[in-house]
Amino acid sequence: MKLSECARALESVGISDALWEARLLFTHFAGYAPATLIGCDPASDSPALADALARRLNREPLQYILGEVGFCRETYRVTPDCLIPRPDTELVVETAIRLLPPHAHFADLCTGSGCIAVSTLAARTDCTSDAYDVSEKALALARENAERNGVSDRVSFFLRDLLCDPPTGTYAAILSNPPYIPDAVVDTLAPEIGYEPRIALAGGGDGLEFYRSILRDGRACLAPGGFFVFEIGYDQKTDIERLAEEWQMQAEVLFDLGGNPRCAVLKK
Ligand code: GLN
Repeated sequence: MKLSECARALESVGISDALWEARLLFTHFAGYAPATLIGCDPASDSPALADALARRLNREPLQYILGEVGFCRETYRVTPDCLIPRPDTELVVETAIRLLPPHAHFADLCTGSGCIAVSTLAARTDCTSDAYDVSEKALALARENAERNGVSDRVSFFLRDLLCDPPTGTYAAILSNPPYIPDAVVDTLAPEIGYEPRIALAGGGDGLEFYRSILRDGRACLAPGGFFVFEIGYDQKTDIERLAEEWQMQAEVLFDLGGNPRCAVLKK
């Protein structure tokens, strides 16, 4: 198969960055150096490449096929056991890096791949963290990602269903990108999203179930001056401001590079 054929096949199923993806597949599965793929059309009969292309044509996310993804300055191993870290979530990490006091101990709830805790710790070498998730398989990946990125001595992992078993520590901040998509909306999203764990996406009937539960149980875990940093959906600014008001907290909403509300900082 030629590079151009691979790109055409990807395009035919509606993948927009088809040539870019085809080059990545050739790099990872056919042994080509990226620079050798610009302006030429090599061919490969690698069975691994054919297999990867077949998976992608079924709309499996490229990140699962490659097995890794870049997030902030780190690289994460990802499998269908965890949500794929998104560029949007980097805003949560940037905000935490900026606001955490010196030598802070913070929590990351619904850690998934571990990306929020690990990238925050990688940049803030004075801090420590407890990372929680309901999935044992996600926690195994988060552990691996902590090790891979050199922060495993500063993070502890806890297997816990936060909806019925709240966190217990005392934290300078609680960070979380919880599942926040309304249940009925999850199945209407891009086909790739169907490969990601539903429990990492669905946030109950109105998408706010986890914020409610984290605010109810997490406030008692905040040290004096402590705060929450949440990722929120593009349409959840007023929802999170209303929830903050219910719990007598101040909310500041920050916008992502796409201009959407994406991150909320809540203070007592
Ligand atoms: N914290 C992980 C992330 O931001 C997982 C989030 C989740 O599973 N909802 O990608």
